[in-house]
Amino acid sequence: MSNLDFIDEAYRDSIATVDSEGKRVWVYPKKPSGRYHNYRVIATIIFLTVFFVGPFVKINGQPLLMINVFERKFVLFGQLFLPQDSVIFSVGLLTFFVFIIVFTVVYGRFWCGFACPQTVFMEMVFRKIEYWIEGDRKQQIALNKAPWTTEKILKKGGKRLVFLLISILIAHTTMAYLIGLEATKEIITQSPTEHMTGFIGLVAFTGIFYYVFTVLREQVCISICPYGRLQGVLMGRNTVNIIYDWIRGEPRGKLNKHEPAGISIPKGDCIDCKLCVQVCPMGIDIRNGAQLECTNCTACIDACDDVMIKINKPTGLIRYGSVESVEKRIPFKLSFRAYAYSAVLLLLVGIEAFLLLSRSAIETTVMRVPGQMYQEQANNKISNLYNAQIVNKSNNEMVVSLKVEDNKGSIRLIDGKKTIKVRKEGKADVVFFLEMDKAAIKKIKTNLAIEVWQGEDKLETIKTTFLGTIE
Ligand code: SF4
Ligand code: SF4
Repeated sequence: MSNLDFIDEAYRDSIATVDSEGKRVWVYPKKPSGRYHNYRVIATIIFLTVFFVGPFVKINGQPLLMINVFERKFVLFGQLFLPQDSVIFSVGLLTFFVFIIVFTVVYGRFWCGFACPQTVFMEMVFRKIEYWIEGDRKQQIALNKAPWTTEKILKKGGKRLVFLLISILIAHTTMAYLIGLEATKEIITQSPTEHMTGFIGLVAFTGIFYYVFTVLREQVCISICPYGRLQGVLMGRNTVNIIYDWIRGEPRGKLNKHEPAGISIPKGDCIDCKLCVQVCPMGIDIRNGAQLECTNCTACIDACDDVMIKINKPTGLIRYGSVESVEKRIPFKLSFRAYAYSAVLLLLVGIEAFLLLSRSAIETTVMRVPGQMYQEQANNKISNLYNAQIVNKSNNEMVVSLKVEDNKGSIRLIDGKKTIKVRKEGKADVVFFLEMDKAAIKKIKTNLAIEVWQGEDKLETIKTTFLGTIE
């Protein structure tokens, strides 16, 4: 068999977790175990450590990561980014999306299976607690069908309580990533009336996480996650995916120890035990081929490998592979699309790296005061009046001064001071006169550059124009 003809494609007309009347079909996945599950345990430990420790880590007084959309302040590895960094931010976002596309085109949903917070928390935290309290698939089904006894109330109530406590913990950690650890501590330690918005935010986050991991579960990946919805256009015949080797596995059939001698019925390696279906947290049958619901969690690989070992067949009937590699029995190779996307990604990474490396801790904008022409001074000089805004993107107060490049003119701050103090993560608005000798003015509009200095270090050069008159 060279294609997927054996499959009745009708399964694509509906999703496995909704019945013909539109009601939810609750999934009771069998407890996973095996080689890939062990890898996922390691990935989970790394993820949870980074997630929960992250808000406590400081670099140069700044957190490791902060996405403060409310105050439009973003910190990445201790580097503060403000709205003035919009170009870096836009190119960064573009690079990120192209990276996601390239990665998905080549490696499919590897991210979903191993690193997506939804999968990690759902399958490796909440589901584990469920197994611990209610038992494996069969016990859970039996418990749900059983009448409400004290044991059932204790198990169901206890599980919900633990789920709620973990949701509270995740909500507080998420808040710390949004507004910072200190601000989150204030909300926790002070009266809710003093931080009503923050308090409501924490309650809302807790409610959302509790609902997602207790009720919505796999529906987030199936119906809500935009990345999941994109898979149909990103993945192709060469994309690495969790795949059932239908050439080896079909025609499937139960093991029959009492097969009459001398009669050989052609059979593939799949013994139709359905363990790969029972273990699937999305409720699908991977033997139908690649499906949008599959989060590449690898549970079916482990389940099938276990079966293959028991029946003395090679493992890998379900494995990582591409449709092309299974169909043509060839090793995996990169497609032209993957090369093209990679070239775009490389270009974007280069631009972003340049922007980051050339990023100054200070960002200054200078404009001549609108509606003002030049002023003639008594000392044979001409002056223009300017407004400047200096933004300090660093975590330290800065004291800076302004100079005209090549000493083509001089700067006089309107407040009479020589330097400008800019508080950390703050900005300073200044008004100054730029004066030039009349003799040096050769054009009505002279191009100039103003330099921002901190001590002996030149931080920035801003181009501007100077209006004057020619003698
Ligand atoms: S676990 Fe393997 S052998 Fe069992 S039904 Fe699935 S593919 Fe077939
Ligand atoms: S089909 Fe396999 S890899 Fe995909 S979600 Fe189900 S168990 Fe996980």
